[in-house]
Amino acid sequence: MTRIGIALYLITIVIIASPLLVALYLYRNDLTSLVVPQFGTGYFLTSITQGSDTFGYKGYEVINPGQSVRLILSISNPSSVKVTIDSISATLYCHEHGTFIGLVQGENTPIEIPPSASAVLKLRLLFTQEGKTDIDTYHAGHNNLYLDLRNAEIGVQGMKFNYQEFGEVGPVEIPTS
Ligand SMILES: [Zn+2]
Repeated sequence: MTRIGIALYLITIVIIASPLLVALYLYRNDLTSLVVPQFGTGYFLTSITQGSDTFGYKGYEVINPGQSVRLILSISNPSSVKVTIDSISATLYCHEHGTFIGLVQGENTPIEIPPSASAVLKLRLLFTQEGKTDIDTYHAGHNNLYLDLRNAEIGVQGMKFNYQEFGEVGPVEIPTS
């Protein structure tokens, strides 16, 4: 294989690989980090895919009523190295009803998160019509909306990772419109 061919092959492997293989790739030049993966970026990636406390929902701001809001999350880095999130995008579904709510995209990326610290992540959510209807019908005036993030693409340290299921945020309180 050519050099480029090998690089593409490796990237493909990383995209479909399990978090452990991702860690193996990231630490191919520093295998001691694998022995204690809690000290590296691999640990950060593992923690975000396990839907642990990495993401915390903080609130939202209305950008354009009925069309877009800004979701404010905290994102924590439990590892002992600085992690840079280059980009993030995902689709959102109502956990209870399965409705396609809309698309989210990182607004304030890239973000650097120092070791053992957290940063504020702002996501812009663009509603679909069915998503707006679901929220108005079932969630307006309640604090019962949980959102599933799917088909997420996250850029970390210059590489892109794709996840079919990325976890859940909520509860999101929806004011009466
Ligand atoms: Zn719903």
